[in-house]
Parts: sequence; C-alpha cells; structure tokens
Amino acid sequence: MTVLWENKDIRKASVETIQINLGNRCNQRCLHCHIDASPDGDKNMDKKTAIYVLEKLIAITPSIVEFTGGAPEMNPNLQMFIEELWRKGINTAVRTNLTILDMHDYSPMIDLYANCKVKIIASLPCYSKNNTDRQRGSGVFDKCIRVLQRLNAVGYGNGSLELDLVYNPSGSYLPPPVENLENDYRKILKKSYGIEFNKLITITNSPIGKFKMQLINSGNFESYMRLLANNFNADTLNHIMCRHLISIDYSGYIYDCDFNLALGIKTKGYEYTKFWEIDFNNFNPEIICAEHCYACTASSGSSCNGVLLRKNDAAFNTHADCSTC
Ligand code: SF4
Ligand code: SF4
Repeated sequence: MTVLWENKDIRKASVETIQINLGNRCNQRCLHCHIDASPDGDKNMDKKTAIYVLEKLIAITPSIVEFTGGAPEMNPNLQMFIEELWRKGINTAVRTNLTILDMHDYSPMIDLYANCKVKIIASLPCYSKNNTDRQRGSGVFDKCIRVLQRLNAVGYGNGSLELDLVYNPSGSYLPPPVENLENDYRKILKKSYGIEFNKLITITNSPIGKFKMQLINSGNFESYMRLLANNFNADTLNHIMCRHLISIDYSGYIYDCDFNLALGIKTKGYEYTKFWEIDFNNFNPEIICAEHCYACTASSGSSCNGVLLRKNDAAFNTHADCSTC
C-alpha cells in the first residue's frame, strides 16, 4: 500500500525532541510491542556510545530528551544521562512501563526521577484490571497501581512533577475520543485507587512488529490497514511528530521516529552517519513515509504524545514525541 501523500515533499523542521531508544531489553513481553522487546533483548546502548550521545545533546540543547526502550530503566546509562542533562538544564522525559519500577533493583529510580524533575510518561492501557492484564500480562495492573500511588506520593501527577498516562487500543480499532476517555480514567483511578495524573495520551497502534504479526495471524491486517487509510486526515500532515523529532538507536544511528527505528528505516541521507557526527544547522531531511504512517494520520492523528488535532481546535500537539510503550 502506498501512502496518499507520497508525492508531497515532507521534511523535518527544527528538531526539538530527541528520543533515545536505549535498547530492546524489557521486563515484559507485550503482544503489541513494536520493538519486540523482552527480557532477552540484546541490543542495548553501551557506555561509549552513551557518552558520545550525551556530549552532542549538551552541545545542541534540544527542548527535551526522551528515553524509551524496551524498559529504559534496564539500561545502566540512564542515570548518567538524567543527572548530566539535569545539571545542564535540559528537560528530560522517561517512557516507563511502570512495572519495572515495582522491581526491587529499579524502584530507587523513582527518587532519581523526582530529584531531576523528569517527566514520566507511563503506560496504562486501561483503568480496568482485566483489560490491562490481557494486553500486558497477568498481574501487570496491580503493579502499575502500586507504582502510580508511589509516584503520587512523591509529587507526580498531583504536584509540580508531570505524570502522563498512555492508552493504546487492545485490538485492531482506533482509540476512542481522548476527551471522554480521559474523564473516565480520572474518575475511576481517583475513586478506586486515589490516583491522580496530569494528562491522558491515546496512541493508535502502529501496524508493525508483533502487532502486525498478530493482525496477520488473525486475518485482520488488510481490514486494519483499510480502517486507517479510510480515516486518513490530510490536516494531520502538518503536525506529524517526525517533523520536530528524531529517534536515536542503541548504536547511535538516527531515524525519523521510533516506528521507523523499529523498521530499520534510517533518516534519509544519514544512513551511515551517527548522531554526534551531524551538523544540525544544516539538517532538514525528507521524512520517509510508508504504510505504517497511516496510524499517525488517521482521524485526529496520533503520536506517542497523543492526538495531533483536538475537536474544534487548531493543532494540539505540534511538537509531539514518540515511544514504544
Ligand atoms: S510495549 Fe513497552 S513494556 Fe511492553 S514489551 Fe514493549 S517496551 Fe516492554
Ligand atoms: S510513523 Fe508517524 S512519526 Fe513516523 S515517519 Fe511515519 S508519520 Fe512520521
């Protein structure tokens, strides 16, 4: 399937968000994971690469540096990144699956996040235990709730520290309107568990990785692609997150976004160039789009920071960022 905007020359504008995929090691094995992350993940950023990346980040001072994976907490370089960027006044965010922070070895990361004012973007695919456990594994919901309560206790979601939750559909359908869903999340999490958060992010499942295999095996791939293409909204094209974001992989190569990273599609013209070798004063490559981009351009649009357009609104997330979970 070719994309409807194939002949448009869509290019990167200023790079404001730099997303670092620290690797494919994760404590979970979710069915929809587009990175195919698992406890066996063996592609993880080493110290030498991390230092090259860190030095370049400090030199170019992006608006925000976002860490993803896998579970970024499982990469031993995450702490160095966060502390050094904090010292330099560069904002950071971590995309966490929450359950990792319930594990003894990683739970102290909560204090690190709070001390360095790291924004937390946390996966919670549903406020219902059954739905969450079905998508993410048995026992996941209870662990997420425990960790969210601990995050609230140190000021996340109810004080000065930012806590966003992430919803993604558990099947081959589009997310419901974020406004209604956010109200439901807020009411139910507060009433049942006393949990507060700042914002709900809804993400359309990208038809790649394990989710694509699931669609193919269940005979739903064609119909899901048709659903996405039939809901194509040309207004989203000015706001797709890849215009203001790059993703860096564990070895330092760059991609238009985390989805292209998962597919191994490097940024055009930079296939053999590592992040720290790039002159960002002369950087406006053409964005490489393919059929999976329909997930970002269907209906109100989608990015890893939520919908691109809100009802009755101009652009909502013009500079959105992207992630795995
Ligand atoms: S979706 Fe997130 S939590 Fe699940 S396996 Fe992938 S990286 Fe891990
Ligand atoms: S998947 Fe989305 S963010 Fe990535 S290149 Fe396509 S439109 Fe851009």
